[in-house]
Amino acid sequence: MKFIPVIGLEVHAQLKTKSKIFCGCSTRFGAEPNAHTCPVCLGMPGVLPVLNRKVVDDTIMMGLATNCRIAPESIFARKNYFYPDLPKGYQISQYEAPICENGWVNISVDGQSRRIGITRIHMEEDAGKLVHEGALDSSRASFVDLNRACVPLMEIVSEPDIRSPEEARAYMQTLRDIVVYLGVCDGNLEEGSLRCDANISVMPEGSDTFGTRAEIKNMNSFRFLQQALEYEIDRQIDLIDSGGQVVQETRLFDSDKGVTVSMRGKEEAHDYRYFPEPDLVPIRIDEDWINQIKDQLPELRNEKMRRYVGEMGIPEYDAEVITSDRETAVFFEETVAAGADAKKASNWVMGEYARLIKEKGHDAAKITPSQLAAIIGLVEANTISGSAAKQVFDEVFTTGKDPKTVLDEKGLAQVSDVGAIEEEVQKILVASPDQVKQYKEGNEKILGYFVGQVMKASGGKANPKVVNEILRRLLAD
Ligand SMILES: [Zn+2]
Repeated sequence: MKFIPVIGLEVHAQLKTKSKIFCGCSTRFGAEPNAHTCPVCLGMPGVLPVLNRKVVDDTIMMGLATNCRIAPESIFARKNYFYPDLPKGYQISQYEAPICENGWVNISVDGQSRRIGITRIHMEEDAGKLVHEGALDSSRASFVDLNRACVPLMEIVSEPDIRSPEEARAYMQTLRDIVVYLGVCDGNLEEGSLRCDANISVMPEGSDTFGTRAEIKNMNSFRFLQQALEYEIDRQIDLIDSGGQVVQETRLFDSDKGVTVSMRGKEEAHDYRYFPEPDLVPIRIDEDWINQIKDQLPELRNEKMRRYVGEMGIPEYDAEVITSDRETAVFFEETVAAGADAKKASNWVMGEYARLIKEKGHDAAKITPSQLAAIIGLVEANTISGSAAKQVFDEVFTTGKDPKTVLDEKGLAQVSDVGAIEEEVQKILVASPDQVKQYKEGNEKILGYFVGQVMKASGGKANPKVVNEILRRLLAD
């Protein structure tokens, strides 16, 4: 029997707000343990949470970018459970009335586009972190760090529309592109800014009844997500084929061994005893508020790619590479706006620019888009050769100096002076009687030898086009 996987993802995105969701504490990463805490995020009795408006703004923006309906009224709910990193004994989340519902995104796998439904997006607070002394099973002490407690999260829950591990990966990547382009989350999976749980079951081909699902928790890389799902699909099919039954449970992916292992029985919603949060009023969002956010919606990656190919005429491959990072896309667009040809700008951005960014990081880049446009202009005007342009680019990239100044300082200007080049060519021809003879006997290829000699004699500065013309003319005499 052939089986079809049915996958739904729950993605947690940590919002990039300066302060926490219900108090004024900083959200900055990497501080001393418990440095960013106050009575509210420590869960002291008698304190009251105050909602951070920016969290609502960011979530509305995400909802609009993923075609959701923004609820005119939504409420917070208490999700009750005990864990040492959760001092209140409950998490403030949203349950019955989330802020965004019924959206979708398009994903693309192997050139095929598919629409994945988004059930809901809601706001909630993160929990703290436990730090164990040594290995977990032999640890004699555990420490609690509550810097992360009360940091705002957005949970994006998909419909069970995903049908393969590749689609799950593409969906996760699409969501990452969106949050990064919106500027609401840094999209850093390794630091946990974007985390993913997957619900997965298999059903016989042709059936429309979903099988029993398992949940795989906390996958923090695109590769692990795909590997975990591939393993879990095989595991469930083998189990059913050998007469067994999939049980509803929560599993963990062991990335070293490449397997999922059972962690605990899956909780049901009623285990959490959700009830409306009595300390917070309902959130009412009117059309004005939504329109205000709509006006701030930036162009997303898909839209940028379509525009680059359609309006600027650059290849799809280039558009994909350039837009993989928002800062690079902005740099490219501004270079074109400064007057550079789009394809030439794209070659520079994907080549030298990307190479140096990778080597030295975005912060090291001192070059401005108009400086790159100027360098491209210098090559077009034959003022410098392509290789000299790369030297100028390197220098401008790290120093931010004016390209023409660098050109003068390094003496890289290309020599197009016909008289000077002709003198050099004549010297070479006189010094190479054998090669001249071969050329006159019809060996056209020997021309490359002469060009090479002239370029060498000029220190690479002679304009190769002019050199070629003069050589052909003199050799024809
Ligand atoms: Zn606090």
